Amino acid sequence: MSDIIQLLPDHVANQIAAGEVVQRPASVVKELLENAIDAGATSIKLLLKDAGKTLIQVIDDGKGMSATDARMSFERHATSKIQKAEDLFNLSTKGFRGEALASIAAIAHVELKTKQENEELGTSIKIEGSKIVSQDFISTSKGTSIAVKNLFYNIPARRNFLKSDTVETRHIIDEFQRVALAHPTIYFLLHHNNNEVYNLRGSNLRQRIVAVFGSKMNEKLVPINEHTDILDIQGFIAKPEFSKRKRGEQFFFVNDRFIKSSYLNHAVVNAFDGLLEQGSHPSYFLYLTVPASTIDINIHPTKTEIKFDNEKALYAMLRATVKHSLGQYNVAPVLDFNRDSNLDTPYHFNKSAVKGSVPKITVDPDFNPFKEASQKEVALPYKSEQNTQSWESLYTSVSDEINQEELFDHQQETKTQKTFQIQRKYVMSLIKSGVVLIHQSSAHQRILYEEFLESITVKEANSQQLLFPVKISFTSQEIEMIYTMKSELENAGFSFDEFTKDSVTIKGIPVSVTESKITIILEELLNDMNLEVPDASFSHFDVMAKSFAKTLSLKTGTKLSEKEQESLVNNLFSCKESTISPFGKATFKTLTLNEIDNLFNS
Ligand code: ADP
Ligand code: MG
Repeated sequence: MSDIIQLLPDHVANQIAAGEVVQRPASVVKELLENAIDAGATSIKLLLKDAGKTLIQVIDDGKGMSATDARMSFERHATSKIQKAEDLFNLSTKGFRGEALASIAAIAHVELKTKQENEELGTSIKIEGSKIVSQDFISTSKGTSIAVKNLFYNIPARRNFLKSDTVETRHIIDEFQRVALAHPTIYFLLHHNNNEVYNLRGSNLRQRIVAVFGSKMNEKLVPINEHTDILDIQGFIAKPEFSKRKRGEQFFFVNDRFIKSSYLNHAVVNAFDGLLEQGSHPSYFLYLTVPASTIDINIHPTKTEIKFDNEKALYAMLRATVKHSLGQYNVAPVLDFNRDSNLDTPYHFNKSAVKGSVPKITVDPDFNPFKEASQKEVALPYKSEQNTQSWESLYTSVSDEINQEELFDHQQETKTQKTFQIQRKYVMSLIKSGVVLIHQSSAHQRILYEEFLESITVKEANSQQLLFPVKISFTSQEIEMIYTMKSELENAGFSFDEFTKDSVTIKGIPVSVTESKITIILEELLNDMNLEVPDASFSHFDVMAKSFAKTLSLKTGTKLSEKEQESLVNNLFSCKESTISPFGKATFKTLTLNEIDNLFNS
């Protein structure tokens, strides 16, 4: 029998490659903009007709190409950006595959004009479906212009598959924004059907973000800045009150390249914990810089996903840094007294967050982004003396003011009783400017949440030993889950005796847990873990602290003694984030005297 295998002709191979590289006009835009950046351009113009279906043209003032290179640039696997396989692990350019121009030229009419700085003449090349139609010397200015016309003209199926102009334009603008945000110092212009859409002068990062998203953005931005040996983080997060219903303005750049990472997104959202309403998403523009050798960009053909060597350490640092900035800029909603800045100090960076990953470069296990804070000794939520004092000072002044203003005749009474329980659901407490109404259950959730989070991540909680160890049955799958959380559970105050295939024996429990609650707290935890954690590599801390807080919190209907009411109030206002429960509900509301007056004046 005769042989039947043959090599595909180049133009067919290019068309097949194009299927991967060019999905839609926006993919061409991305490739051309990135080539212009790699060529060192300081000015990049993008001209479109009909959502890029008729024309995509990118004009840059970069270094241009020689006549030979201009021709070579359309060959498959032709690139000036890497030479050997090792270069793949130390990339500083956007492109490196040498596929884009070859792929684009296989499925469109392409006109290239390019000239290098010191040359008299430049080169013009026309290509249609991989075939060179003409090549000439021309006079043109320094840099490169590539016009891509009639995309998919020779693949009707792909052309018909394109969406409406509105949708395709949206995709292009997304790509344009990502590149413009990654390179604020470069001038960018975007024209669509001869209308100017963006005209972005070279500027600093903040100005660029505002220029892209509008002047309202300015007041929303909180700067982020952190430098460590393995990671630099810069950029902005939007204040929580400006968070969005729809996931929108969320940008990660790693070494100036836009990337998508649900893992890092999780770190940021986690840092906003308790500050966002349920179902809303924070906006952020975060620029990470890591040594090029610690990332692998090569895992996705269109390169929006990358792999980090030390993902877990990055996660922990990113979360801590964002939390720190949120606190530092005091964007957390505040009560009407001066917050102690200690309150804004986020939890200590925890070593165990890094544990388990095997970073290639040495990570300082004691890394703590909050150097100043750690020297001050961060106060525990329960023992923050300063904070309790500032809260208590409100009470002292309550009686003073009452005295002065003679609003009440019977001060004795107000001096002795400061709090009242309403319908076994709310605790009312008098303050200088009026009253605070506290939701007892939500408030207690906040208190327990912070207490557990601290014991799980920072310092181990006290454990009470059980007189008779308790053996509880679970399915083997549940046992496995408990086992993976063993060290966090131990930090929280549990101690375990024996794990079998279908049971666990517990000999110690957190001091805040009663023996009768052991089973339910673990069952609830398993439940919450199943619901909330998409992937075992995510930290369990948060889910665990929330779960315990929910199960153990005071419920509506519980009668509280005056002492219990007072300690609830004090403990709540010693929390780092007292205004909101870990599930996003308000823990208290204030009613000022003015507001009370208004109730009677209307
Ligand atoms: P890659 O960017 O992966 O190297 P491309 O197919 O996008 O592959 O481009 C091939 C080569 O053409 C590049 O390596 C570069 O040398 C050259 N080139 C492409 N666009 C430009 C440009 N705008 N200015 C200068 N050189 C360019
Ligand atoms: Mg390229």
